[in-house]
Amino acid sequence: MRIGTILQAKDTARRDVVTITPDAGVRELIALLAEHNIGALVVSVDGSRVDGIVSERDVVRHLHHDGTVIHNTVAAIMTAAVETCAPDDDLDEVMTTMTTRRFRHVPVLDGTTLVGIVSIGDVVKHKIGQLQFERDQLDSYVHQQ
Ligand code: AMP
Repeated sequence: MRIGTILQAKDTARRDVVTITPDAGVRELIALLAEHNIGALVVSVDGSRVDGIVSERDVVRHLHHDGTVIHNTVAAIMTAAVETCAPDDDLDEVMTTMTTRRFRHVPVLDGTTLVGIVSIGDVVKHKIGQLQFERDQLDSYVHQQ
């Protein structure tokens, strides 16, 4: 299964990637995470190039160490070295990366342009659908006998 297929299967409202600029405030970041009910935002100066990623875990971790980080910018808490994938990449490989590197979001790039994001939730949803399909196939095979 290709990553592009997963993106196409997402609700249209969920297909747009919510981005934030590095100079935005941490308060604005928290507001966007809550408003969109999501766990991470891609950090981008122009809304297309990926300059970083910032997740709710970054907020919690930094707040735990220093409460004043709430007054800081996104750049201070984001991860700059982002693991990305392409629409043609294989889902299982991306899933392995998410598991071994312990992150739940991977931005999808077409060349250098941001075209989507795959979350662990998208992956699990797809895997459950696949298991249900296989179960139904086996069930109808058994009951045909
Ligand atoms: P998450 O599991 O997405 O909440 O992220 C956990 C940690 O990994 C946070 O520090 C994120 O900034 C970082 N992170 C999330 N996604 C990626 C990614 N695709 N590439 C690099 N770091 C990431």
